[in-house]
Amino acid sequence: MTWRLMLHGGARAIPDADARGNLEGARRALAAAEPILARGGGAIDAVEAAVRQLEDDPIFNAGRGSVRNREGEIELDAAIMDGSTLALGAVAALQDVRHPVAVARALLNERATFLVGHGARRFADEIGAEKALPAPTRRASACDTVGCIASDQHGRFAAAISTGGLENVRAGRVGDAPLPGCGFYADDQAGAVCFSGDGEEIMRMMLAARAMSDLEHGASAQEAADRAIIRLRRVGGEAGALVIDRNGDMGWAHSSRHFTVGMQGADMPAFVSIQRESAPA
Ligand code: ASP
Repeated sequence: MTWRLMLHGGARAIPDADARGNLEGARRALAAAEPILARGGGAIDAVEAAVRQLEDDPIFNAGRGSVRNREGEIELDAAIMDGSTLALGAVAALQDVRHPVAVARALLNERATFLVGHGARRFADEIGAEKALPAPTRRASACDTVGCIASDQHGRFAAAISTGGLENVRAGRVGDAPLPGCGFYADDQAGAVCFSGDGEEIMRMMLAARAMSDLEHGASAQEAADRAIIRLRRVGGEAGALVIDRNGDMGWAHSSRHFTVGMQGADMPAFVSIQRESAPA
């Protein structure tokens, strides 16, 4: 099978001043994951590598560049899923960790799938998770979470997602990002999906679960992405969707002003772009 890699740098309005940084960041993240897939490595390793890279890039609202809640704190949500085993790891409202996605990854080997609060902190310490890099002084931004989905040469799918959440929200607020079936999902039998945007609305519509169901019922990646964005209209809010289906076709759609995407495949050179308003009709 041919491999596929898709990532995003958030569904939001991107100021002109940030456009270049977003594109360069997306390109660096592709470059971090591509060698893994090209040499026959696992989709799960590729999505983690891409998201780690994005977490270190202060232009994105994840890891180092995360926004603050209304108490001035940074709370991090991340998740990762292996579509072969349906193993899942997620953390929410975690503080002072450089790579929340790596903490989520370590949970793939545990009975617990989702940790929050002091238990998440303790687990991060137990695995020796690196402490957060100093936060840059950065511009305010509403939403530019990161996410990545991939399929590898062996037909295995994976998804990973990481976010600082939304700015100025109530402490302890968790959005769709770490919730399977809301912000992401991966299953070798159908494909992989991930979302960015207004977490409360994405969660209420269970966009990832429904997109997976669409794939299972024969929708193409593009149809599943379009339908997700159309579905969201029922409750409002904006989102961006990435989808890879079992045929290796890739789909994306968004209702946000912009959506930074990056994609690459065995037979497709790296491509990064800031998609502009293109909500499906
Ligand atoms: N969906 C994320 C959240 O609500 C934010 C984002 O995608 O930018 O926490």
